[in-house]
Amino acid sequence: MSSDALRSADTEAARRVTEARWPDGIRCPHCNSRRATERHRPERRWPQWRCLDCRREFTAVTGTTKHGTRLSPSQVEQRQREERAAGSRDDDPARRFSRGAKEVLNALRQRPNGATVRKVAEITGISERHTRRVLNRLAEAGLARERDGLVRDGHRLAPKRLWELTYSPSCVRLLGHLPRQRAPMSAPPDSDTVPPQFWSLFWSGAEGAEVSLARDELHIAGTLIGNRDLSAEAWALQAVSSETLEVLANSRGYDAGDTGSLIRSELRSRRSVTA
Ligand SMILES: [Zn+2]
Repeated sequence: MSSDALRSADTEAARRVTEARWPDGIRCPHCNSRRATERHRPERRWPQWRCLDCRREFTAVTGTTKHGTRLSPSQVEQRQREERAAGSRDDDPARRFSRGAKEVLNALRQRPNGATVRKVAEITGISERHTRRVLNRLAEAGLARERDGLVRDGHRLAPKRLWELTYSPSCVRLLGHLPRQRAPMSAPPDSDTVPPQFWSLFWSGAEGAEVSLARDELHIAGTLIGNRDLSAEAWALQAVSSETLEVLANSRGYDAGDTGSLIRSELRSRRSVTA
């Protein structure tokens, strides 16, 4: 191919990559704004935009795994096609998420009563600004949401904006594919009670509302661990003590299979944290 033909093939490929990324219009990958203008830079291989809100520039590969690539747009398009084919083969929804997004999802999973942006940033070790960006992206994907809540602040309860997982079917499915990673500085659960979204998993909803970790730890662990609800299981795994997990690991029905290995791996990771 002549260099002119190559260039026009790249222009076409860049256009298709852009359309595939933003099928309903360009969005700034830095701040999610829809207001952007294209910059006239014919010497560049990728069309450049400038965001009218945050003033930063971006291309169709900014913030993706192809960010800063030396590959031409045609090569990037080819790689993306291969990756999509591989992704649909093993059908793992977690593949579509960045490492930061996975860490934020894991942090929210550890805070079933909700967490402020600052708390999520503290758990993940990611900056508050970036955490907020990731949370907004997760909200757009229907995986997380923000609500008004109350947070204990000394002796009083202060109103705060809290983030939590939606526990939609796609959210629960995704959590099942996320490695159960204990984030550094993981905090103990906020309260002694079982979060309301898991009450229905007990023999009756009323029972779920009444049990407390101080009194009924083994019962709570036995009900929620090995349960089909992966988020409830994840919550219980980090909420209960190692002693209770040891007892459970030696109980019939919990000592074998996926559940057994899950409990043992949680115990191992706790030992390696304290070692
Ligand atoms: Zn922007």
